Amino acid sequence: MAAVLRFFRTCWNAVLEVLYPTCCVVCQTKLLENEVIVCPECMASIPLTEHAILDQNGIDLLFQDLIHKERRTIHYERGAAFAFYNRERGQNFRLMIERGKFGSHPNPQIFYFLGRLAAQAYIDSDLFDDIDCLVPVPLHPRRLRERGFNQAEWICKGLSEVLHIPVDTEHLIRTRNNAHQSRSQFEKRQDNVKDIFAVRFPEEWKNKHLLLVDDVITSGSTMLACMKQMTPIRGCRISVFALGWAHN
Ligand SMILES: [Zn+2]
Repeated sequence: MAAVLRFFRTCWNAVLEVLYPTCCVVCQTKLLENEVIVCPECMASIPLTEHAILDQNGIDLLFQDLIHKERRTIHYERGAAFAFYNRERGQNFRLMIERGKFGSHPNPQIFYFLGRLAAQAYIDSDLFDDIDCLVPVPLHPRRLRERGFNQAEWICKGLSEVLHIPVDTEHLIRTRNNAHQSRSQFEKRQDNVKDIFAVRFPEEWKNKHLLLVDDVITSGSTMLACMKQMTPIRGCRISVFALGWAHN
């Protein structure tokens, strides 16, 4: 009986494979049995930042500069991004992120996959040393309803799977939608994200080292707004990580 069931399951899987072949999300090449989400060629084309092996990287410099302009204490520890987002050679990587978030079939598995990949790339660096929990930058509930998932949360799930660090989606919340996020001037972006985040039960984050996670860092204003809410918590330290860095 089991053999018959196995036979029918194999046939059914073969039919599914013909009807819905699993293809690379970037180039649509059919994936082999041990490949998921992205084919080896597209994976090899991801323009890695190599922040893992640098003492001070571009993300550190970005946030040190932003914090200096704030003229107040923000407990930033360290940061990194997995890959360059907007370089010409990074076109495939950008497509992975865009196809994960937009279009008719947003796919959270792309972010889970990239989170795992990034964790494996950074596992020997000190980026994740003494991190107590991974904190995804929250999406506004309306955006969450439209997309069906928060990509930053799925990146955290991928990181967590490899690093065995828990994900915290309870404390950092979004209080309102920022309507004009696409406006480019930094001051406008800062205005847009001012006070849109809040921390619930802040006493539970006392003396914790948190890794704030998002899909792409552009101006850094969104993560800075989160840090401002986290910094008043006694002993709370913040590091940051993103899959992409939109750096020119
Ligand atoms: Zn491909």
